[in-house]
This record gives sequence, C-alpha cells and structure tokens, in this order.
Amino acid sequence: MPAVVVGPAWSTEAVPFVDKGRFPLGVESATLSNVRRLVPLVNMGTAHARYYLLHAVLAADSPAGPGEVIPLDVAFERVRRAEVILAAASLRHASAHGMPSLYRNPHGARVVAAELAQGVFDIAEVAESYSQQNGGFLSVYRGVEISAGLLDPADGTFRAGPVSLPESALAALRVVLAAAEEECLTDTHVDQLLPDACICRAGTGAEAELLSEILFGCGDVELPVAPKPVQRARMRTAATAQLLLHALEGADPAITPRAAMSGICFDDPTRLADLGVAHLTNWALSWRGTLLRNASVTAWRWLWWWLTEEIAARPRSREEIGTALADALVKGAGRDGNAVELLSAELPPHRDGARILDVEDRLLYPDGTATNDPWRLLQVIMLGVNRLTELDGRAWHAFIESGELGPSYVREWLASATHMSVSELGRDLADRLLRQAKEISRRRIRWEAGRLRIPTRLRELGDVLDLAGQEGSVAPGLRLDRLRQILAELGYLTVSGETLAVSRWLP
Ligand SMILES: [Zn+2]
Repeated sequence: MPAVVVGPAWSTEAVPFVDKGRFPLGVESATLSNVRRLVPLVNMGTAHARYYLLHAVLAADSPAGPGEVIPLDVAFERVRRAEVILAAASLRHASAHGMPSLYRNPHGARVVAAELAQGVFDIAEVAESYSQQNGGFLSVYRGVEISAGLLDPADGTFRAGPVSLPESALAALRVVLAAAEEECLTDTHVDQLLPDACICRAGTGAEAELLSEILFGCGDVELPVAPKPVQRARMRTAATAQLLLHALEGADPAITPRAAMSGICFDDPTRLADLGVAHLTNWALSWRGTLLRNASVTAWRWLWWWLTEEIAARPRSREEIGTALADALVKGAGRDGNAVELLSAELPPHRDGARILDVEDRLLYPDGTATNDPWRLLQVIMLGVNRLTELDGRAWHAFIESGELGPSYVREWLASATHMSVSELGRDLADRLLRQAKEISRRRIRWEAGRLRIPTRLRELGDVLDLAGQEGSVAPGLRLDRLRQILAELGYLTVSGETLAVSRWLP
C-alpha cells in the first residue's frame, strides 16, 4: 500500500495541514472517565434539556436502522428541520426569559438568527446550513440519550430506546414537529408557535416532570420501570445534581460550579450531615478525588499550552524550548537550586490537620483567573505525589483513575530527579512533554483514504519545532457547567436577589 504522509507530523516532508490533535498529551482520559461515572446523563455539549425529548420523540416517530421504517438520512433530515424550528422559536422568545443566561443560544443560534432577521426563511435551506453534522446536534446528545434509555445504542440506527415517553407529556413538542413539516416560516408564524416551540417549555409542566424523571429519576410522572443501567445512571446524575445544588445555594451567581463543588467536597463531612445529606459523603469524596486529579490534568495541559505558545511565538529547536521553560521555572521559583527541595519548600499548606485543602484550585486560579506560570503548574503536579498518600477510600480511587502522566508517573519522575537543579528539571520537563506528545500522536496514526494521517499540531522541520494552528488551553470539562444549566432550565435553581437559590430540591 502506498504510504503518503499527510500532516505536519513529526516528519520533515510536512505539508501545511492542520489536524486538531485533540488531547495532545492524553492526560484528559482520567477526568473524562471520572465524570462519565459521576454525571452519566449530561456531557460537555448538552446545553439544553429539551433536546433530549425532541430526539427521543423523533426516534420513536421515525425509526431508522436495521429493519428500518425510513432511511437514516431521512430521519436525520427530520431532526435537522425540528432543531431549526426549536432554535428559531427560542430566539424569538428570548426577551421573555427571566434569567439572562437561561435558554440562551439554542443550538445553531448564529445561523438561524441571521436567517430569521430576513423575515422569512426556507426551512430546508437553513436545515442544510445550521450544523455541520448529518444529524444536527443529535451527535452531541446521542451518547447520553442512549445512557438515559431514550435511544437504541446500535450503531447506524436512530430508534427509540427502552424508555418510552407518554404522549400526554408531548403536546407542546408536537407543535415543533408540525411546524418542521412546513416549507417556509416567517417570524410572525414563529411567534404563533410560542411558547410551545421554545426550549423554555422544558422548564414547565409535563415536560419538566418528564425530564426530571429521565435525568434524575424524580419526576412527578409515571414511566415504565427502566432497565437497571438506566436507573443507575439516573441515580448517579441525581447524586451529583444534589451535591451541586447544596454547593450553589446562597452562592454568588458568578461562582463557577467547579469552585462551588470544591467548597462542599473539601468541607468537613459533618457539613453534609448538617445539610441532611450524609448519604452523599462517599459521592463527595469521589468528587474530591476527581477535582484533585483534574487539577493535575489541567496543570499538564496548561504546561503544554505554555510550551506551544512559546513555539508559536518563535519556532525554535528542542534545546532552545527547553531553555525557555528552564528560565521560566527559575523565574517562578525566584532562584535556581535543587528543584525537588525548592518545590517541596514552597508548596503552600495543603492540609490542615486531617483535613485536605484544595490549594490546587488556588494555584491554578489565583484571583479567579487561570495562571500562566509554569512554576505554579509544576507545584500542582508535584502536589499530586503528596495526595497519593493523603487520600483514601473513594477520593483515592477517583484520584488514581487511569490516564497519561498520572500521579505515579510524577512520583517516579521526581524520585529520579532529586539531584537536578530547577533549570535542569525544566529542560527535562520540556523533553518529556515533547516526547509524550509525539508518543500520543504516534498512537493515533490512522489510515484515511489511503493516506497516513498523523494527528498533531507540532512539526519538526530540520532542528526546528513549529506549530500549525494553535493549541487550546481549555481545561477538561467536568460537566458541572452543563449540569448547572440544566438544573436551572428545569426550575431547580434560580437567582434570588444577589444570590443563587434552590427553588426545588431533589428528593
Ligand atoms: Zn422561551
């Protein structure tokens, strides 16, 4: 087979070509596994609760796949048309929404808003352009909708799963589906569909109860008994939701869900007992381990970002980039000297007696904004070694979740580096980061249309490292922002005066 090497790769015959090397160090898998377990029914992309119902109803109405009633592309076309109606209606209804951030930006908002502004639009045409994906935003929700029992898990199908929905709760959604059959819509026509066709409809009445049952198993609605894995997924999502509600109650609306969870999960366990949720103690410990490991994952990710930003600013050799990181670390440490000793001496107090303090969060976000100081990032990574022996039970299990450059790796690395100065450690670290990224990229090599594709943004031209495009600095998602959004959409969380208030508790 002819081998054509495409991509910047680690090859000298690189064609300028950008392939998003997603998760370039492979460190994120630990966080992704943890949150999949802790919040199985919400993910990073699931922005609005109503899409769960919309997709479930469409799958039941137009089953496609093996033994199909209609072909998959026709079923996807129906999804796309319905999502366009939902977006158009939600945009027209925006001024009626109380909390400013609530029900904002339905999927495809930018394209649909531009079409709406013209007064009349062709549904088929907008359905072509509002999303790059065949099934519209179904691709974002499909995984969690399968876990919720709403969709059939078989590949290449779009059929209802074991959890069937009562027609009595779906009258408003039928308005969306009927409008999706039209050819053209005017803004006046869209207004006539309100509020039934808007995503805010999920927050009231039958749909709110149905979604509470689907996501948390606590809606005031009768559904047939769900299969065990679906019940488990609901319980897990509900446990995190309940913790998050307690964490957010009375807080400043600007607080990040991550910071709020840190507050409640690092608190004395008696606080949970005082709140009447002592049964969530183990759950809070799992979150504690998850947050700490995620801090380490984030620190690695940001170190890589720092390194690639340096390369983007000025392409240079491995040695030069090693020196740049060494210099930055010495600057952060205040002087050069034995690295492990300086790191240990400068670690902030990370426990108070038996109590674990979440200093990792404060190191990563001093004053609430993300740090760009490699020394601080290295401190976070080093703290992970201490956490290995300080944590136990659920917290420890979540903390050691498998993933690249985990705490055991760091322990071995630092044990082998006891003789190194800060600048030597910096050069060693740069070398390790570059090797790790190369290794991850090598593992992801794949054949595509007869060509070898090597996903990476980094390319080596002779001795010089260069970057194609830009590495993101986004920390891996804990799914908490989306969970908070959905809790607000379903009426569990509101803003009352200057603080957040829980308007409904999970039982
Ligand atoms: Zn609305």
